[in-house]
Amino acid sequence: MGGLANIAIDGPAGAGKSTVAKLVAERLSYIYIDTGAMYRAVTLQALMDKIDMNDAINLTRTAETVDLALRVDGGGNTCVFLNGMDVTSQIRSPQVSNNVSLVSRIPGVRRKMTQLQKEMGAGGGVVMEGRDIGTQVLPDAEMKFFLTASVEERARRRCAELMQRGFTETYAEVYEDIARRDDIDSKRTVAPLKPAVDAEVIDCTGMTVEQVVGVIVARVSGRSG
Ligand code: C5P
Repeated sequence: MGGLANIAIDGPAGAGKSTVAKLVAERLSYIYIDTGAMYRAVTLQALMDKIDMNDAINLTRTAETVDLALRVDGGGNTCVFLNGMDVTSQIRSPQVSNNVSLVSRIPGVRRKMTQLQKEMGAGGGVVMEGRDIGTQVLPDAEMKFFLTASVEERARRRCAELMQRGFTETYAEVYEDIARRDDIDSKRTVAPLKPAVDAEVIDCTGMTVEQVVGVIVARVSGRSG
């Protein structure tokens, strides 16, 4: 087909994937897709509907019936709409963060999200970010990266980001949330968090965002030209 490549960026919570993926997409004029936002939106809907986090049938039904849309605003930020309502800020709340890994481990939820994400990547030219993009969603992506960093550094970054968004969680709370999500995400039976065999693993501890973006853009540019 000779179309644009797809770029998969995976890794644990707080490794800087979103910031990096957004900048890479901007530099290359690709479309940025935040798949974590999709799992968060399903989780928000489940919480609003008071569904038990162990109720696989109703969580699957929520994922299958929810009206979910991602739109990029003028500043390049992804806005998330749930049944027509802008929930961009709400999906970052501690309540959603604390429950999202329970929702995303349900096979029926993953089936539906993976299907939607595959459709989004079908035309090429996307930078898709998540946990299982290189392994499950876009296994044929031309470029795959797995970003990681120490839990301490990831907790520090996430704390700063949450503060900017107006949330007031402590470092200890953020650390615990990240460690707990890493644990559930990497031990679940369906599509656990792990690097694809053909992914380049980048340990971002001590690297600036600009350095990480530079490495990825250089690899992609090297490939195409
Ligand atoms: O990327 P973010 O931290 O917003 O993702 C929230 C949660 O969504 C993750 O902790 C994980 O449980 C789930 N997720 C997933 N697969 C993806 C993206 C996110 O299971 N591709």
